[in-house]
Amino acid sequence: MNIPAAAAASRRPPLMPLDDALARLLARAAPLGAAEDIDTFDADGRVLAEDLVSALQVPPRDNSSMDGYAVRAADVRPGQAMPVSQRIAAGHAGEPLAPGTAARIFTGAPIPAGADAVVMQEEAVANENGTVSFAAQPAAGQWVRASGEDVRRGQIVLERGTRLSPASLGLAASIGFARLSVAARPRVALFSTGDELVMPGAVPPEAMPPGAIYNSNRFFLRALLARLGCAVTDLGIVPDSREATLAALRQAAQGHDLILTSGGVSVGEEDHIKPAVEALGTLDLWQIAMKPGKPFAYGQVRRDGGGESGDACHFIGLPGNPVSSYVTFLLLVRPFLLKLQGPHALDVAAHGLPAHFALPRADKRREFLRARRNAAGGLDLFDNQSSGVLTSAQWGDGLVDNPAGCTVAPGDRVRYLPFSELLG
Ligand code: AMP
Ligand code: MG
Repeated sequence: MNIPAAAAASRRPPLMPLDDALARLLARAAPLGAAEDIDTFDADGRVLAEDLVSALQVPPRDNSSMDGYAVRAADVRPGQAMPVSQRIAAGHAGEPLAPGTAARIFTGAPIPAGADAVVMQEEAVANENGTVSFAAQPAAGQWVRASGEDVRRGQIVLERGTRLSPASLGLAASIGFARLSVAARPRVALFSTGDELVMPGAVPPEAMPPGAIYNSNRFFLRALLARLGCAVTDLGIVPDSREATLAALRQAAQGHDLILTSGGVSVGEEDHIKPAVEALGTLDLWQIAMKPGKPFAYGQVRRDGGGESGDACHFIGLPGNPVSSYVTFLLLVRPFLLKLQGPHALDVAAHGLPAHFALPRADKRREFLRARRNAAGGLDLFDNQSSGVLTSAQWGDGLVDNPAGCTVAPGDRVRYLPFSELLG
């Protein structure tokens, strides 16, 4: 049946709200399951595949948090000299403290049995005859770090699903883990589409042919994928043709968990991604009510031998415009890739901050505006919010999440998502 273009357009399904798209995407992101054992040194950014239970107390014993003298507080008489009966440095165990004496002690050294307080050396007078006097009465427990005050034996120190940070690595090491079981890296095949794309380095700026632009998406997408612990196969630039797109998708589906593309995903004649994915699998969502980033696609591409219900590879098609590609990666692909690596909190901590800008025209779509915090505690907006202007993503330190149909007046509180949260 022939449907006139105008009627066809009016029958186009409404744009999908971002939250619905994210929920659908996450529902498809079943954790990959496989885990690998890696050196703790290499585990920053990876997702822990098992609970880490401590087999010891941290600190293992009560120890001094100061350089000074370990005493039994009740034995001290202010102004009266006490014999110094021993010297205990970090890494050495002392003898039980002889009653009525003090032990010279250093930071991190175990408190000897019988002592219950440390007097810092700045508050002690070392006498020439080897004794020590204290000006004030110490309180029992002062400057003593208690055994287990950091970690107790049997405690779960890091839970399965935790995204490991530098602090996590230190904490895991503090309970003796030299290796960690982490979720396998998602295997991602990446390609850019567009006949206009040229790789930097291949052609110098002064020799760029008419209509050519440098491929910028490929650079930030690879960097973003690496931060999320992915193993990336970069398939380069795929020409704008049905055959080339089909061939690239077929190849990419083998041995990967996700195919990630940029460009070619809108409805132009040169946009080959959508029909190619439909030919090789299914395309499940399409066109999101957000700005930038409307043309976003999720689907699955069958692997060789995978029948209708068989083995398939996730597919995500990002828009070609650099800012659209960047923002949709942060808001949709990032949580998807984290979920593939295990169950853990995906929420991004947003702030309510005052707008130091005006947005007098409401948009039909939910907008993500590149903004940055100013010294007055408010938000400034980059002056060009075009989805092609990548400078806005560099200038900004986050996104203002402005609901559909809303204007903003200076002083209004807006929802702000820092890039520091979205890039981690
Ligand atoms: P498309 O989604 O393919 O229609 O592309 C939309 C816009 O983004 C066009 O202006 C493209 O030239 C541009 N574009 C597409 N891919 C890239 C890329 N990898 N790097 C920079 N710009 C791109
Ligand atoms: Mg294109």
